[in-house]
Amino acid sequence: MPEGPEIRRAAFEVEQAVANQPLVEISFAFPHLQEYEEVLSSAKIEAVRTKGKAMLIHFSNGYSIYSHNQLYGKWMIRKSYTYPKTNRQLRLALYTEKQAALLYSASDIEVLKTDELDQHPFIMKAGPDVLSDQVTATTLLERMRLKSFRNRAWAALLLDQGFVAGNGNYLRSELLYVAGISPDARPVDCSESEQEVMAEALITLSERSYETEGLTVEALLVDELKRAGKKRRDYRHYVFNREGKPCYACGETILKIMKNGRRLYYCPYCQ
Ligand SMILES: [Zn+2]
Repeated sequence: MPEGPEIRRAAFEVEQAVANQPLVEISFAFPHLQEYEEVLSSAKIEAVRTKGKAMLIHFSNGYSIYSHNQLYGKWMIRKSYTYPKTNRQLRLALYTEKQAALLYSASDIEVLKTDELDQHPFIMKAGPDVLSDQVTATTLLERMRLKSFRNRAWAALLLDQGFVAGNGNYLRSELLYVAGISPDARPVDCSESEQEVMAEALITLSERSYETEGLTVEALLVDELKRAGKKRRDYRHYVFNREGKPCYACGETILKIMKNGRRLYYCPYCQ
């Protein structure tokens, strides 16, 4: 499932491909959205933003398309009116003269007035998005100390879009590892310095993953591992998807457990 950094990158690519130029056509697969095809295609796309895992495509005439990829949605950029070989269903297509942005498989697509987006249920509930909002480590530190969050397990909080929007399953394991926090701990169980490291990591890991197209490991270690002949699957993450392999910090074997119905990987020594 794509997480905040992947959606942010998709938004960047959609914006590069189809924003700030005339649109040739917009087509929705869902009949109830087809009434918007004309009004939207006569406007321009001014910006493509994200809020956590939701994408917001803002048009010059005061409308926006809200989409959430859930488990299966996928954006693809192609030459206009050419399509990838896929069994997926095309749900939304934005065509310019040269390029098209195609959204496959997503079912959560809506058209809203831009000034009413704040009232959308997902956006209303979403916490700060470290890639799109002005978020500082201090804000996040205060947030994890709030009554509503501090007594909940980190393993649940780091998937809760109401805490910090955009985190998902690989970020959860990686954040806990970087902060040296046990997968069973709650914010209230952590020392002040562990909380501070987590607050910083919430920002840096998402930014790093966005900039490197999916890596959460710091650049120096990535270089070292590449020089040692390691493959991407070995230097992409510290612990996620690395069950049975040695921790890069201490050599202990990485373990995999299930938490909140999702896979969680951790180092039993470092955390
Ligand atoms: Zn370790």
